[in-house]
Amino acid sequence: MKKIAVLTSGGDAPGMNPGIRAVVRAGIYHGLEVVGVRHGYAGLLRGDFIPMTLESVGDIVQRGGTCLYTARCPEFMTPEGQQLGFEHLRQSGIEALIVFGGDGSFHGALRLHEMGIQTIGVPSTIDNDIACCDLTIGFDTAVQTVIEAIDKIRDTATSHERTYVVEVMGRSAGHIALQAGLAGGAESVLIPEVPYQLEDVIKRLERGIARGKKHSIIVIAEGAGSGVEVGQYVREHTGLDVRVTVLGHVQRGGAPTATDRVLASRLGAYAVNLCMAGESGKMAATQNGELCAVPFETVFNSVRAPEMSVYQLADILSI
Ligand code: ADP
Repeated sequence: MKKIAVLTSGGDAPGMNPGIRAVVRAGIYHGLEVVGVRHGYAGLLRGDFIPMTLESVGDIVQRGGTCLYTARCPEFMTPEGQQLGFEHLRQSGIEALIVFGGDGSFHGALRLHEMGIQTIGVPSTIDNDIACCDLTIGFDTAVQTVIEAIDKIRDTATSHERTYVVEVMGRSAGHIALQAGLAGGAESVLIPEVPYQLEDVIKRLERGIARGKKHSIIVIAEGAGSGVEVGQYVREHTGLDVRVTVLGHVQRGGAPTATDRVLASRLGAYAVNLCMAGESGKMAATQNGELCAVPFETVFNSVRAPEMSVYQLADILSI
């Protein structure tokens, strides 16, 4: 093997930069030529390739976002788009492609694998909604960002004796809400995986008020409903002074935590090793802290369920 490429695709996640750095530096360390594909699969279709050097990934280990840019590319979901991407890789003499992204990006990588390009995926999404791995790159940083926001909201909620609804990211998975809700001491945590009744949320609030609580925080994952609507409901049914904060894209940015930097560095370098070992159509992951390669099909056929013990604990500790 002489030449490999790396791209970042789908929603960005803090830690993609240290991941790219690891691929480039480990690749060069092993005597490989490393190419960066800019703008994800969209750049692949345009042949938007840049040579990566040791210096090109200098000073990014601590930065959020991705220096290769990322994109969503509907065209790559068509057989014609995939063929074009395949041809650009072949024409450039690229034998293996490392893809940082989520489930959608891995489906694209699987197509290329089936066409004969070696592909390795690296799980990178703030949502932590990829199965068969301990953790996805970006999740730890996103949870940290949410906790910092909740702590600040708690200060002002206490001063004004208010109830706050904090809406966090997570369309189909409530992992961010769950971790941040427990760590942030929320009274209620609402996630898409667990049905809930707003009457129960009200009852919890009223129990808290009855024992003298001056403020309350409700954390809701966007996939579990609208924070604004929940806020409206609580206001109308309790008369409490309720405010809503939708954290939005602030959760996607920021310097990656040490956990994310270490994970991204390990997985990036490991992805290079897998390419050199001839592996393909697999996700580089850690399971119980150990590096391993999981076939994409296995990943697609598995679901990371919410940790119900954490959900129950958040419930118990917020009585
Ligand atoms: P994520 O990787 O974060 O889940 P998306 O679902 O938006 O993000 O996917 C990112 C990109 O991966 C898409 O814009 C598309 O180019 C490619 N992709 C997604 N699903 C498929 C698929 N089924 N086949 C081929 N490519 C896909």
